[in-house]
This record gives sequence, C-alpha cells and structure tokens, in this order.
Amino acid sequence: MEKYSALHFFIFCSIDLHINIFSKIKEKQGDLDSFERGVQDMEREQILTGHIYTANANMPFAEAMYCKDGVIQAIGLKQDVIRKADPGAVIRKVRGLILPGCTEGHAHISSTIDKLYGVNLSGGETVKEYQREIIHYITEHPNATVITGQGYRNGVFPDKGPDKNILDAICEQNNVMVPIVLQSEDCHSYWVNSIALKQAGFESETGWIHELDKNYFESILPVYSVEDYKKAILHYQDLATMYGITYAFEPMLSERKEYMTAIQAYKELAEEGKLHIYFRMAYPMFDGDCIEEVVAQILSLKKETRSECFEIIGVKFFLDGVIEGHTAYLSEPYADTPGDAGQCLWRLEELKKAFMAVEREHLQIHVHAVGDGALEMALQALEYVNEQVDITKSRHSITHLQVVKPEQIIRMRRMGIIAVLNPYWHLVSDDYYYQIETPYLGKERVEQEYPVKDFINAGIICTQGSDYPVTIPPNIWNCLGLCVMRKRPESIYPVHNPSQRISCQKALEMFTINGARQLFLDDRHGSLEAGKDADYLILNGDPFLLPEEELFRLQVEECYVKGVRVL
Ligand SMILES: [Zn+2]
Repeated sequence: MEKYSALHFFIFCSIDLHINIFSKIKEKQGDLDSFERGVQDMEREQILTGHIYTANANMPFAEAMYCKDGVIQAIGLKQDVIRKADPGAVIRKVRGLILPGCTEGHAHISSTIDKLYGVNLSGGETVKEYQREIIHYITEHPNATVITGQGYRNGVFPDKGPDKNILDAICEQNNVMVPIVLQSEDCHSYWVNSIALKQAGFESETGWIHELDKNYFESILPVYSVEDYKKAILHYQDLATMYGITYAFEPMLSERKEYMTAIQAYKELAEEGKLHIYFRMAYPMFDGDCIEEVVAQILSLKKETRSECFEIIGVKFFLDGVIEGHTAYLSEPYADTPGDAGQCLWRLEELKKAFMAVEREHLQIHVHAVGDGALEMALQALEYVNEQVDITKSRHSITHLQVVKPEQIIRMRRMGIIAVLNPYWHLVSDDYYYQIETPYLGKERVEQEYPVKDFINAGIICTQGSDYPVTIPPNIWNCLGLCVMRKRPESIYPVHNPSQRISCQKALEMFTINGARQLFLDDRHGSLEAGKDADYLILNGDPFLLPEEELFRLQVEECYVKGVRVL
C-alpha cells in the first residue's frame, strides 16, 4: 500500500535524517555495551514505581511493578508490590509512562533489502530529487548490473505517472546500459527504463507498470543472499526498537520470490540469538497456486524454522491493490471513472477453497483488502468456511480496510476477525485526501473511510500496522497522535470524520494486548501482569496527561524484553 508523501516528508524528509536516526541507534547501543554489570543485576530484580498502563482489562493502571529474572512477579498498588518483593530489591521511580512492548501488526520487514541495497527514493518530493538520487546511486555503484530501488511516489508525476524517458535519459547521460526497476512507495507499481522493458519482454509506452504486470520483471531483479537479508532484518529491528516495537508481523510480498532466503535469514538470526523482537510471518498464496502444495510447504517450513523469536503463523492473501492506482476493488465504481470498480485478484470459488485449506491446518488467514469489494469477497469466503468449522477463535485478520460498509463490520465481528488498521493514513496529508482520495472515491465514501471507532465499538479486536516501508519510520507514537486527533497538528483543515477519533487508552490497547493477540503471543506478552514476561517500555512522557499535539513527540527512553534492556 502506499500513501502520504507529506507524512514521509514531515517525519523522514531526507536520507541524512535516516542516517541520523541510525547513528542514534548506534549511540544507544554503545551506551548499552558500557553498562556496568551491577546495572544488569539491578535490571534482573527491581521495583518500578510511577504511572503504569498495564493493558490488562481487569486492572488497566498500576502504581508499581516488580520484575525478577525477566518475569513480572507482582504489579498493582505500590505498598502491595513492595510487600511481595524480595527484601533489598531496588526501587526505581520512573517519570514517564511505563507500558507493555508494542506490536507492529503489518510490516514488510524483508523489503528493507531494497532500501539497503538499492536507490532509496523515500521522502523525495520532486522528479529532480529522484533523478539526483538515481544518478548518485549510479556513481556509487559503477558495476551494478541492474539498478533497483524503492519509494517513489506516483503523485509526483501528475497525469501520466512516471516515465521511462526520464530513466533512459539518465542512462544515456551517465553512459550506463543496465535495466532500472524502481518500486513505488506503496509497493503496487514499478517505474522501469527501456532496457528493463526489453529484457522482460514487456511492452509499455510509459514504463509505468501496475500490479499484475509486475511479475514480468521478477527475473531482472538482483538475487540477494541470506547474509543480505540478515542485515536487512537487523536494520529493521534496530529501527523498530527505537519506537518500542517488541513484536512484529511480516506478510511476505511477492516482488522477489526470495521467501526461502528471507526465512532462512530469520532462522539463522534466531539461532545466533540476535533477535530480540518476536517476529511472526505470513507466507503468500496467489490465485492459481496449487493450494495443497503451498499449504504443505508452509507447514514444513513452519516446523523447520520455528523458534521463540520467529515463526510462520499464517498465509497472506492479496485481494486488491490501492485507491491511488485505481486497483483497489470497490463495490461501486470509482467516482472519476464510471464503470471501473477495480478488480479482485482472487476468484471467489478459489478463495473459499484456499481459506478452507488454511483453516484446516490451523494457520492464520491474513487478507489485504482496501476496497469494500475486496472485503466482500473475503467475508463471503470466510463465511463459507465458518459454516463448516467455527472460526471465531482462529484469529484470522484483515488489513487496510479503507472503504468498508457498516454491515461488513458486523459480519467481521460475528466471525471474530481481527482488524489490522493503518491509522498512519488517516488524513495525514491534506493534499492526498483532497486531490486523490476525494475525486477517486467521491465525497460520501471518502468521508466514511477508515472508520476506526466503528470497528472498536462493534467489539472487534483492532490492531495497528505501519505497512513499513510504506510508512517510514514506523513511529508508533505518530500513530497514537493520529488515532487520538485524526489529523496532523499542523493541518489547516478541519478534522476528517471526528466521530472516528479514539481515546489514548483504546489506541494503546490496540498497540499492546490486541497486537499480541493477533500474533498469538498474548499468553506471555502484550500486557503487564504477574507471570508474564517483563517486556515493557518507558516513555519520556505520559500520554494520558499530555496535550494531544504532544503525543506525536513522545519517545521511548528504554525498552526491555524479558527484563533485559534492548534500548
Ligand atoms: Zn502491506
């Protein structure tokens, strides 16, 4: 999915800033390495006092928490916790909020590889900036046999979209004769040069390639090694830890069929003890695949690679594309192109069979559905399965959910479907909302999009996903601000559909316990309760006390997993 370059610009406007963020990670890690042993011992057993959000519905707030050997021993009123602790346990008063580690419910972690080894176009606002980045990359990589990259925004090219002539001119001026294949920031289209078109045997007047035709270019993409993927995953882990993400879900993308390499990288990192985030994954399945074969492969991969920090838990189904590409599948046509409602990437009968096969093996279904047409297909297929087996405890999930009908929400609730929402995208860019979404969807539909509160009010388990690298960085505290305010503080426009604003507590519930539920981690994680692992964050402020605009500026000062400090 792709979106909102203004957001990117605001929070991540240059590669310099990117580098800056990573040098900060290094600094933090340096601090950590120099920790005295005594400090580590203290972390093993200590009482934290202050304002604690537990995410435990029976007792959402607490005054103190006693952790020992990586496990929460007691939590509640200060005097009770101290009474239960070993005599001599260190008491530490904390200023900001203490809360459980957070979950990223939908992030393309392996796609970091395109940022690490290709041209990084994220944050660029003009064609000139893109040209500069590509030329810079060519100069730095004179021996590259193919140039790839990610992050250009289709909206930067008004009318006709990105043009191959721009890339051809760069090649000519720099005397390079290699294919260029760049992926849009929403990962739903490519911008390629004439050499790439020729090598792929594909005809296009413009060099702007959509969704289904992207497959032609697979063979041109460079092949990355397990070591490359390990670097990419650790890169994401460093970045995500800065924002307090301790559990993350990766639905695999289809661009590179390097699933095995990426899975092997996770496996090796877990064996080497280098993962502190708990990663869970969904393996992709497409219409036309041999369903039984894919399911059998997933089951064997799951068994071979399963560890505490990594596990394949489900199957990812792409049902449609994105609104901005007119590829999201709507129940009614796009407002600006009568007769065109987008298209579903699965046939209903095939989808029913696939869902049934996945449910039968107790795997989780994870669906990409942007439009209400795609959601309808998913619901009909899920209802088909639910008629035969009770799926209400299977924790199947649907993500994006931009255009939905109220009755569809009720049907999701009935089957216990988890809604993996993307609050980062709620009117984060005025331009995007008024210049793309409004004309494409029409006023009525655009006003009803992303109905977060309706999902919550219906009793659905809601979680959040940044869709990284669509949203960079995956700053969950921006997400908190957007959930609560439903606009960026600097926006000059009125709040879009203010009835869908949610409270700080509801948002934190999404990020913590609900996220852990989505990943089947809630038995030991996601809330601060006696007996659960001591996975917690300390923020530099208390979101329950701060003015709404300040939520965007919250930072994670410390992050602990099993009582060990990882930030
Ligand atoms: Zn995605």
